[in-house]
Amino acid sequence: MSRTVFEDVDLLVCGAGPVGCVIAERAANLLGWNVLVVDRRPHVAGNCHDSPAANGVLVHNYGPHYFRTSDEALLRYLSQFAEFIPANYEVRSLVRGTEFPFPINLTTLERFFGRALDAASAEKLLAEKRVPIAKPANSEEFVLSRVGRELYEAFYLNYTLKQWDAHPRDLDPSVCGRVPVRLDRDHRYVGHTFQVMPKGGFTRLFARMLDHPKIRVTLDTPFSAVRGRTRPRRATVYCGPIDEYFDNRLGRLPYRSLQFEFVPYQVEWRQPCVQINYPNDFAHTRSVEIKHVTGQAHPETVVSYETPASEGEPFYPVPRKESAALYARYRALADTETQRHRVYFCGRLAQYRYFNTDEVIQEALACFQTIRERCAVPVSSHPAV
Ligand SMILES: Cc1cc2nc3c(=O)[nH]c(=O)nc-3n(C[C@H](O)[C@H](O)[C@H](O)COP(=O)(O)OP(=O)(O)OC[C@H]3O[C@@H](n4cnc5c(N)ncnc54)[C@H](O)[C@@H]3O)c2cc1C
Repeated sequence: MSRTVFEDVDLLVCGAGPVGCVIAERAANLLGWNVLVVDRRPHVAGNCHDSPAANGVLVHNYGPHYFRTSDEALLRYLSQFAEFIPANYEVRSLVRGTEFPFPINLTTLERFFGRALDAASAEKLLAEKRVPIAKPANSEEFVLSRVGRELYEAFYLNYTLKQWDAHPRDLDPSVCGRVPVRLDRDHRYVGHTFQVMPKGGFTRLFARMLDHPKIRVTLDTPFSAVRGRTRPRRATVYCGPIDEYFDNRLGRLPYRSLQFEFVPYQVEWRQPCVQINYPNDFAHTRSVEIKHVTGQAHPETVVSYETPASEGEPFYPVPRKESAALYARYRALADTETQRHRVYFCGRLAQYRYFNTDEVIQEALACFQTIRERCAVPVSSHPAV
């Protein structure tokens, strides 16, 4: 671990994930600031990190990252650092031995209920199946009110139990509410305008962002190694867990973790599409053959099997009222820290919120804008904050 005191720093960034890379790049390129980026992991790109497995197949080390956005300006910005290629995010769900398109679409409904349907007859069928609940208070009620009990039990109930180790009735409606139900044959996982992947991978994209003479990057370096020793003239951006920043003084924020098993196969393709969900079978929730979307041509392949876990890397904030309340208390401490010491909390861990990559990059650009406006005057020539 590096314990060097870094001099001549305008902006200190904790975390070389998407947020840290974007803010560092903007500050160096647009403002000419000297930026120091530290990360405790041995690589850049945060959870978007990808790397070649032993057989040379590019894998996503922290779970599949399907880049999508409807924000053309955002894609234009990112295209400075990578070429983007179209990607087909097709997901199927294995239920009763059959693979169904997921999210549920017209084909799913036809196969599941064993009859031919069009949009109008499917809507009529769903209307008969729906459980009338005017204001769903949890995920179970939400799904029952949209698709009825049979589809809920086949596709959602056990998947949610495995994923969260919690019953859907104990989870916020938004947990299952993110999955649409389609009355057409669109088999894509998401509906965004741009569904694309950076050619060459995410790690290369984010490494290119940091490749600037004004940016220094030190890996294998926890924030504690520079905290209090390096005094940035303008501001600090903190992308780590918000509770950890405050030494967990109010208690730990809960997270759901994941374990990944990467299995090589000496065949070109192992499964028909990038992702298969297993709501009712196995301990793992999904198998992912990321080669379907990275654009890599390779005679062999790798499939990752993803199993939810209570211990391990913090991946998903737990969407319960108690954790939201605890986060709100940390947020109040963070706001004071921002005012007094110009520490800006940005990103999925610092804001205790699940963001997709495009969304978190929008957050980062907005945070940069705030820092730019508020921190134009360096601390040394500024009254103490
Ligand atoms: C399983 C999974 C699947 C996902 N799939 C998708 C997807 O399909 N599409 C999509 O768009 N998004 C997806 N995401 C979301 C995406 O990963 C995030 O939006 C993005 O990585 C958040 O960027 P970030 O910079 O906020 O955090 P991170 O990527 O987590 O980066 C934070 C960095 O800070 C470092 N750090 C933390 N604390 C410290 C410390 N104290 N000292 C030093 N360094 C520290 C970490 O090591 C890490 O490198 C997925 C996320 C998960 C967990």
